[in-house]
Amino acid sequence: MKRIRITIRGAVQGVGFRPFVYRLAKELALTGSVANTARGVIVDIQGPSEALDTFASRVVEEAPPVSGITTTVTREIPIIRNESDFIIQFSDDSEEKTVTILPDLATCPDCLREIFDPEDRRAEYAFTNCTNCGPRFSIINHIPYDRPNTEMRHFDMCPDCSQEYHEPVNRRFHAQPNACPVCGPHLSLENVSLTQLEQVFQCAAQLLREGQILALKGLGGYQLLCDARNEDAVRSLRERKGREEKPFALMFPGLTMVRRFCQVNGEEETLLLSFAAPIVLVKKTDDNGLAPSVAPDNPYLGVMVPYTPLHHLLMAQLDFPVVCTSGNFHDEPITTSNEEAHAKLDLIADVFLSHNRPIARHLDDSVVRYTPRGIQYFRRARGYAPFPLHHNRDMPNILAVGAHFKNPIAISFEKQTILSQHIGDLSTPEAHRAFERVVVDLPHLYDFEPDLVACDLHPDFLSSQYAESLNLPIIKVQHHHAHIAAVMAEHGIEEPILGISWDGTGLGTDQTVWGGEFLWCEQGRFERVAHVGTFPLVGGDAATQEPRRSALGLLYQSGLETDFPHGFTPEELVVVQQALVKGINAPLTSSVGRLVDGVAALLGLRQITNFEGQSAMTLEFAARGKLKQAYPFELNGDLNWRPMLRAIINDRDRGVALSEIAARFHGTLVEMMVAVAKIVGCDQVVLSGGCFQNRLLYEGGAARLEQAGFTVLLPRKLPVNDGGISAGQVWVASFQ
Ligand code: ZN
Ligand code: ZN
Ligand code: FE
Repeated sequence: MKRIRITIRGAVQGVGFRPFVYRLAKELALTGSVANTARGVIVDIQGPSEALDTFASRVVEEAPPVSGITTTVTREIPIIRNESDFIIQFSDDSEEKTVTILPDLATCPDCLREIFDPEDRRAEYAFTNCTNCGPRFSIINHIPYDRPNTEMRHFDMCPDCSQEYHEPVNRRFHAQPNACPVCGPHLSLENVSLTQLEQVFQCAAQLLREGQILALKGLGGYQLLCDARNEDAVRSLRERKGREEKPFALMFPGLTMVRRFCQVNGEEETLLLSFAAPIVLVKKTDDNGLAPSVAPDNPYLGVMVPYTPLHHLLMAQLDFPVVCTSGNFHDEPITTSNEEAHAKLDLIADVFLSHNRPIARHLDDSVVRYTPRGIQYFRRARGYAPFPLHHNRDMPNILAVGAHFKNPIAISFEKQTILSQHIGDLSTPEAHRAFERVVVDLPHLYDFEPDLVACDLHPDFLSSQYAESLNLPIIKVQHHHAHIAAVMAEHGIEEPILGISWDGTGLGTDQTVWGGEFLWCEQGRFERVAHVGTFPLVGGDAATQEPRRSALGLLYQSGLETDFPHGFTPEELVVVQQALVKGINAPLTSSVGRLVDGVAALLGLRQITNFEGQSAMTLEFAARGKLKQAYPFELNGDLNWRPMLRAIINDRDRGVALSEIAARFHGTLVEMMVAVAKIVGCDQVVLSGGCFQNRLLYEGGAARLEQAGFTVLLPRKLPVNDGGISAGQVWVASFQ
């Protein structure tokens, strides 16, 4: 006979952890208690020592899937005589407060069974949830996570729901969004005359089948849906939304159909079915019957499966995938309120499927990719935000505002950094407003007061200006340093490392435009030890959308001459050449992103892009997944790419296959990393920055560096793109 105390930490609150412990203890005939405390869940448990061992291992192994236990500590405590029962202990209100805010969780199997069971009181009910699943971050207005502090405060629980809510062994015990058709939110199908609301899913499905565009009020905002096989429907969605070629994500009714359209492996399937239920980038199969406009010239598809009862019930009516994209015009932030939806989406959608539960904050669908090195995040939002990043030391109260306002902001306190959801995509007034909302919302949500604010070096960013306006001590962090620091923060690394930070552009400490950087980093400091050779960028930011400008800059800088289908008129070309000669509006850059653009333009792939990263993707796909022998380059202080460029132009003129040139170009970039790493001589190398969204540079670069004897550190939970910047700013500022 023994009594032990197990302290369990992690996301163990608000996920049905105590009922789970209760059931397990009862099953093993053990006595004692379980309680929620500020330090985590504490289980005092007594019984034969063998049964206690079983309990201790099963409590971890069988824990609710979303609980994410981080640590357990077990110690022996004195036996209590005459104890005969196991109880759930209710502490005073302050201790009951749930301080961890969970992300929204995809519908669990139990709830799924209920909504498809015609006999169940929640049959076809689109807002079914329990402690294991349902909305969280998208409905909470303030901690603690109690119903009155969520958007469910507008709905009073009926006696049945209330009973479930108060029963410790019930799956809905303290499930804050608990609801049923009697007392909870309701759907409405607008712009359609509907006699019987029971047919709402059949009716919406029929409209999709007919080629109409449906605006659906999802978890974190409106989504736009149409039949993914119907080229006319997909095209008109593109036209109305103002989105030319950027791939659309798809929602499939289920995994079986995903397998018909895509090549998915076991890990990708697990990701699709995970509680985060993100959009997963997977290889598409040929001749899959999808409309060509879904993802033009792209071997990958962004796919997801239903993750709310609403999506499940609608998709169950369909035997085909639908385009499922953020409800917005162009790349503006996703629309969340019913009024806004009608103002903004009326010209895009034919039909609205809405409901009366407000959305507390916008959350786009997250976008990830499975790689043998772990999950790579492209957009971290629904299902992942606001899971914290844990540190092993106390952090100051820092607010980090990110760089350009499309990336998340972050706050740090105690031993954690919390990142907001992805904010939005372009320099629209709406994106400004979304930034301003989030930068107020996140601190408010956590009752957080910053002592310090961190921002980018660039004085013109709205985020930097916001930081200045706070009248707090301010720390300006160089963009590429922040990229590397984000990975150091994730891995808790303070010792010196070599950071390879490659991306589009960011302001450097010497006022030139950086983007191909090798930074020696230690704690919160860095030194620029090498960089890609600079070239002029005519038109500055305009060059981002026009790879041909990068190409002309590369040619000018290297003194090479060649023709390529740039599409400039002779007059325009003269203006560009003069700008290059005179150095007018042609800042120097070391950007690898622009170098890649320039090479893509010289190879005739892309002269003008219509979404970020398009030309880099085209060049990556051209390489067909291969890295080949590097072209020559020189390392004399800077990385001199002139020999490589000359060789590429030669190969192109000799008619060497594009796939060969592209594979050798990527091979060269990888060898450039290795060459510098060998000279710097740090054992550990961090890769970060938007260029590493490229599979060849990310996986190929890491593999080649490891082969050369280096330990490679990659982001694990944060995006490699600017989605990690604010976490890096926090890390750097925390050393000041
Ligand atoms: Zn559930
Ligand atoms: Zn109810
Ligand atoms: Fe960046």
